[in-house]
Amino acid sequence: MSPPDSLQPIPDDPESAIPCEDCQAALRSPGRETISFLLVDELTIPLAGCEEHLDQFSSACGLTAQQRSDLLDFLPAGGISCPACRLARHSAEQPVIPVDAGAVGIMACQEHFSEILTRFHTGIETQHQLTASLDTS
Ligand SMILES: [Zn+2]
Ligand SMILES: [Zn+2]
Repeated sequence: MSPPDSLQPIPDDPESAIPCEDCQAALRSPGRETISFLLVDELTIPLAGCEEHLDQFSSACGLTAQQRSDLLDFLPAGGISCPACRLARHSAEQPVIPVDAGAVGIMACQEHFSEILTRFHTGIETQHQLTASLDTS
């Protein structure tokens, strides 16, 4: 007599909670082809996700940029200036930021992860304010 399968613990797989399949695929196997680079001011952050949600993420972050913001699908000429970010790899422990129905994996050091997260949240707030002011016109 073996115990019924239903007693097995549910695997702790955060990626299964992402509705967007393209994001899931990109997060599962981030490689040279699937990694994009978000340039915001002096930051260069490697990202994994589908094109659509990377775009949403970068445009929200771009609203907070003082000088420039860009999304590249190749490593920029100057490379990544932060040595800790350069060493960061996407893994199961690496945090992902939910973006609409998708999620974007951030391959940066702790410091720059929290900076880009703050920028993203500020950008989303700004977007909401812009939308709200359009609605009341
Ligand atoms: Zn997606
Ligand atoms: Zn860094």
